Amino acid sequence: MEDIRANLEKINEQIKTAAEGCGRSADDVLLVAVSKTRTPEEINIAIDAGVTDIGENKVQEIMDKYDAVKPVKWHMIGHLQTNKVKYIIDKVSMIHSVDSYKLAVEIDKRAKSHGITMDILLQVNSAQEESKFGITTDETEKLIHDILENCENIRIRGLMCIAPFAENPEEIKVYFEEVKKQYDQFGRIEHERLDFKYLSMGMSHDFTVAIEAGSNLVRVGSAIFGERNYNI
Ligand SMILES: *Cc1c(COP(=O)(O)O)cnc(C)c1O
Repeated sequence: MEDIRANLEKINEQIKTAAEGCGRSADDVLLVAVSKTRTPEEINIAIDAGVTDIGENKVQEIMDKYDAVKPVKWHMIGHLQTNKVKYIIDKVSMIHSVDSYKLAVEIDKRAKSHGITMDILLQVNSAQEESKFGITTDETEKLIHDILENCENIRIRGLMCIAPFAENPEEIKVYFEEVKKQYDQFGRIEHERLDFKYLSMGMSHDFTVAIEAGSNLVRVGSAIFGERNYNI
């Protein structure tokens, strides 16, 4: 049994050290606890220990756990199929994984029918690995333009990325720095529905490096809840 509370204390300490190490404050970094494969009971322990935001990468898991988890902000962080947007539109506070205009249009449509504006992040892939979802810098610019032009019920809050895995996280710092540059660049666009606040990058093995490169939202799973076992 993992000690979720103790793990959280340690991670909050590491976030503080990393943030202060580059002249920022721990309050500047939002911790999203990634609870995929975890039970509502485990998630509630994390919430009791101070977690305010949780992340899931599958629509089904959000739906299965939603009623049993205490009030908290839900983040959709995984690849999202257009035909599943309707199931989570009224449950999540932000969708991190928008990587196509088609998906944005569907989110916009569903948000409109619920009378809400959905906060989204664009998932970028500056390493341009074929195996990962996400869009290139040129595509990002076009997608931002298309969304601002046509999707009235979407507010663009920033960028998200998943770094390629590296044994030594220092090796991917340049990758994070590249995404931070894009974040600063696109964040300067002036529009009422573009309000950059979140740069979502960093997971269990690389969140301190991501913070040093400018991340202000880290998505941490196994370092909080323990290693995942997909067989149970
Ligand atoms: C699983 C997952 C995480 C968390 O990964 P850990 O290595 O367990 O911290 C972060 N982001 C996304 C998109 C994920 O799917």
